[in-house]
Amino acid sequence: MTRPINVAVLGATGSVGQQTLDVIDRNPSRLRLFGLTEGRRSTKRSAEHLIQGQAGDRDFDARVEAMVTDPRCDLVLVAIPGARALAPTMSALKAGKEVALATKEVLVMAGALVMKAAGERGIRPVDSEHSAIWQCLWGERRENVRRLIVTASGGPFWAQPDVDLDQVTVEQALNPPRWSMGPKVTIDSATLMNKGLEVIEAHHLFGVPLGQIAVCIHPQSVVHSMVEFVDGSLKAQLGHPDMRLPIAVALGYPDRLADAVPQTSLEELSGLEFHALDEHRFPSVRLAREAADAGAGHPAVLNAANEEAVNAFLAGGTPFSAIIRTVDRALSAFPGSGETLPEILEADRWAREYVKANSGRLKT
Ligand code: MG
Repeated sequence: MTRPINVAVLGATGSVGQQTLDVIDRNPSRLRLFGLTEGRRSTKRSAEHLIQGQAGDRDFDARVEAMVTDPRCDLVLVAIPGARALAPTMSALKAGKEVALATKEVLVMAGALVMKAAGERGIRPVDSEHSAIWQCLWGERRENVRRLIVTASGGPFWAQPDVDLDQVTVEQALNPPRWSMGPKVTIDSATLMNKGLEVIEAHHLFGVPLGQIAVCIHPQSVVHSMVEFVDGSLKAQLGHPDMRLPIAVALGYPDRLADAVPQTSLEELSGLEFHALDEHRFPSVRLAREAADAGAGHPAVLNAANEEAVNAFLAGGTPFSAIIRTVDRALSAFPGSGETLPEILEADRWAREYVKANSGRLKT
């Protein structure tokens, strides 16, 4: 390699963004911080493009556009949360940049458009499950894949079958078994909706039909996901949960960055369990498959209705079980389509309005 690759980090002040800066700092011969966006907090970094503000305001968006389309920029790591990551991701792809994607909403909402813009190059996944699947697929032919198996920690209620999901408190739901995450992701892992979103994400990233993507409960979170092949062979990617690994894999590809995470001792990995997902108690994965199958704006509705319902639960006053009920009803009520980017954004807006307008009725 002649020079380090120029990396732009969108969302540098979040958890993935911070860990990305750490990976860049530790690999100065390979990676260079070319630009970044930061929210209210400062990263105290210097870079050619240093952009402060909020996605959605015009000056911020114009400067991000200039950064991700700058001819010297090689790779854009997208870690801005939510739908706001869509526009800069599309700009980077259209400018021919490598994209490492941490924001799953981008693929959930507009997977077909995004993958079309990515073309042969594809997208480098940063989500840990998708990074695991990506690594398992290296050197393999797609026609030899039987199914993808996305692992799930199960969240706090999976292991407590007697807990009535109508009675769950915010405190109980915010008690994550393994990693510490933001409140939205923690609730999504308690409802298993994060796995629903990840099934859609995997479907687009790897071009595998929805019916060939399974979810399996693995409470230890050591196996980050698996691929099963037509001969019956299973490949898995393992290690202690640490987001710096999928980040390093995405930034270093096709090389591996030395010592990205501490070594995993095999002796500590005893007692790995795998269990079937109870789709009756946790219908989110089924709903997500149905939404992705219906296509058009439905996955955007699933995502936006879920986000609004999670916010309502966190604010108090709606039961935990109303989250998935709300998503289900929003999907049934959704009248529209959503093939183009503006139509997809309209489906997102429609779902948020629907949830707010029907909040009283959706409690039961
Ligand atoms: Mg994940």
